[in-house]
Amino acid sequence: MKRLDPVLEEDTKRMLVDLEGDSAVEGRSVLVTGGAGFLGSWLCDLLLKLGAQVTCLDNFSSGRLDNVSHLLGHERFRLVKQDVTRFECNDKYDFIVHAASRASPEDYQIHPIETMLANSLGSLKVLEVARRCDSKILYTSTSEVYGDAKVIPTPEDYWGNVNPIGPRSCYDEAKRFGEALFMSYYRKYGVDVRIARIFNTYGPRLREDSAYGRAVSRFISQALRGDDITVYGDGEQTRSFCYVTDMTVGLYLMLTREGVKGQVVNLGNPRETTINELAELIKRITNSRSRIVHLPPVPDDPRRRCPDISRATELLGWRPRVSLEDGLRRTVEWLKRKIES
Ligand code: UDP
Repeated sequence: MKRLDPVLEEDTKRMLVDLEGDSAVEGRSVLVTGGAGFLGSWLCDLLLKLGAQVTCLDNFSSGRLDNVSHLLGHERFRLVKQDVTRFECNDKYDFIVHAASRASPEDYQIHPIETMLANSLGSLKVLEVARRCDSKILYTSTSEVYGDAKVIPTPEDYWGNVNPIGPRSCYDEAKRFGEALFMSYYRKYGVDVRIARIFNTYGPRLREDSAYGRAVSRFISQALRGDDITVYGDGEQTRSFCYVTDMTVGLYLMLTREGVKGQVVNLGNPRETTINELAELIKRITNSRSRIVHLPPVPDDPRRRCPDISRATELLGWRPRVSLEDGLRRTVEWLKRKIES
């Protein structure tokens, strides 16, 4: 079996300390769609450590074999290469996480129809499995359902400000449809659905290459290589960046805890940062001589994004613990090793 990168090894141990003694998934069977993606692969790692039997479903459109290759040969891990929109099975699952979808704005705009189908037809496929198996099922929704939010920090009862025909609508509206479908299965059939609205998350395994690159991973890669750091627009737009271990623990709690059936919960780090601040911070942490350059703004780019996480704290006792500086240092260490290898 391939060895895990030391940052991932240590981070996984830290999550296990947070969840010490938790046996909710021990000996239980879990399906993770998009299990070879960024968040999906972190969940597979955590679930296996907690004793689950894990089936990872992925079509490798944006997921990578490299994210789960260390698990191949694990007796409780199974990899299925398939598109979730074609997924049929007779297996029994106690828990399901539907995380299969492209998530990078540049990438999903290249593949808009595929993105819409993963969240609509794909959601239907997994909801039918959950209905048959009486599984708990978690949908990984997004802060993008709020669009260009006018209420900051944004609580779950804000209905959103989305351009339904804009370039981001293939993702925003697909996720909104997915949420509505999950809630319909809850109301009509009593399926135990849970919806997490995930705000910007970063860390090891977030892709930095081509259209997959997100602000954090791309800026770190640019800084390490001495390339220009490309800020879109004036850079005064904000995001709130959550480190991946905090998010993985939050998702795990959403999947397994009582009291969240039929609930939608924001998961994210409430520290709001401008993209200019992020670029400066990454430049400083990497000790880079890269220039920070401004490119034209991208259309419909939300101006501010910051979660109100009171519901997550109240229902799950969850709040992020890793600071932006610490999380960025860990991500830099991981990416540096990856680039050098
Ligand atoms: N961004 C940027 N340069 C890049 C990539 C992203 O300035 O090379 C900006 C982007 O316009 C947005 C923010 O950084 O305002 C976060 O972008 P990301 O793709 O990480 O995620 P989003 O929050 O837009 O889904």
